Amino acid sequence: MLEPIIKVNNIKVIYNQGKSNEYNALRGETLEIYPKEYIILFGPSGCGKSTLLYSLLGILPPSSGEILVKGENPYKYGVKDMVRFQRETVGIIFQSFNLIPSLSVIDNVALPLIFANVPPAERYARAMKLLKQFGVDQQAHKRSTDLSGGQQQRVAVARSLINDPEILFADEPVGNLDSVSADQVMGMLEEINMKQQKTVILVTHDAKLLPYAHRVYHMKDGGVEREVVNPEKKQIKQVDPGTSILSEIEKLARIYPYASPEELRVKSVVNFLTQDIGFDQIEQLERTVGMFIDGKLTDEGFVDRLTRSVDEGGPEIDRHRAEMFEEKLNIVLKEARDIRAYRDNFTAKVASLRQGDRIAEVREDLMRECGFRIPPERIARMDELLKFRIRGFIQSEDFRRRLKSPFEGDGMGLDPDTARHVSWYLEKLIGQGMYL
Ligand code: ADP
Repeated sequence: MLEPIIKVNNIKVIYNQGKSNEYNALRGETLEIYPKEYIILFGPSGCGKSTLLYSLLGILPPSSGEILVKGENPYKYGVKDMVRFQRETVGIIFQSFNLIPSLSVIDNVALPLIFANVPPAERYARAMKLLKQFGVDQQAHKRSTDLSGGQQQRVAVARSLINDPEILFADEPVGNLDSVSADQVMGMLEEINMKQQKTVILVTHDAKLLPYAHRVYHMKDGGVEREVVNPEKKQIKQVDPGTSILSEIEKLARIYPYASPEELRVKSVVNFLTQDIGFDQIEQLERTVGMFIDGKLTDEGFVDRLTRSVDEGGPEIDRHRAEMFEEKLNIVLKEARDIRAYRDNFTAKVASLRQGDRIAEVREDLMRECGFRIPPERIARMDELLKFRIRGFIQSEDFRRRLKSPFEGDGMGLDPDTARHVSWYLEKLIGQGMYL
């Protein structure tokens, strides 16, 4: 069983405890991070991301709760072990680079090795190797202040890796960079995670960066609000039973409404089904699943191809498992077809709404879907309510309240269950951008 590299158990951090300006920055975080994962702690400024990061780094003791890194609580370490932990286990890069301006680039990178008693020749060789790896070796003998922001951050990445730590922390590492440099630095972090197999924990408020992570912890007001798995990445942490591929497809379809459904399906299916399959087999599996989705293989043909060796164009999965794949995939495909039909149906409806603002169709659809009728004299009121909600003049709570409140007032007089159903269904359509 894979053990987490970091376990955080109900930690609280209270700043200025007991003083008038006491502040609960973390209110009981619990999370688990596995070796080689790329994790993003995501949330608005002030939600406690950095506080959590510094607690994990061993420099901000939590007020209560427990942090275990590789099974040990760093806050129980004596000085020597703490130094070893901060040198060998964790590395960090900051938004503001934190290079020492009076030192040359190579000295900045080699500096941590002085404290580790590494002889000078080796220090410089190791530093130079990293500078080369990140494309800043030409700058080795310049002052760090003479470098561009992007170059400085690359130097900082090199420095963070000089002791070859297992976990790399990054606090808004591209917050100060232009988009080209930001992409380069993000690419480097991805490589450090994928190729050098380091656990990467990145803090950001920038949603653009989320696709880099295996998993994202969404934080709000000093707590983890939810954990989101990136369906585009092969997961390291075991996917919880109950997190089904069906909901994944649905999620994907919402996130990328314009990506082709085929592509989404192939990606999700393969991610879901391949928790323990090697990368060499995945390509063949994707191809085979793609062929099946395109209708180029029968059920038996699909199973047969799945069992073939990689050389013969298959992913070499045993027959029993292949049959299971086939069964699951057929369920998924049916569901995906339903989702697609659902989407096409509503796309058509938007078009018709755009043409003539035919709110009557929405009304008819709602009555059909939610099983209720409206007397003729109440139709004008219903249409007005629908128009108001769709155009955003009223909020969903207001819409629902008015569906329920008496017709003699400003409402529709629907029973509460129907009102809830109608409101839920309409919000779903609006949420999917059907009426934008
Ligand atoms: P984030 O990284 O999500 O922007 P932080 O972890 O830096 O959030 O801060 C969380 C909250 O704790 C903020 O409201 C911040 O003002 C407060 N805070 C951070 N550091 C301190 C400190 N040393 N003393 C008092 N309050 C602090």
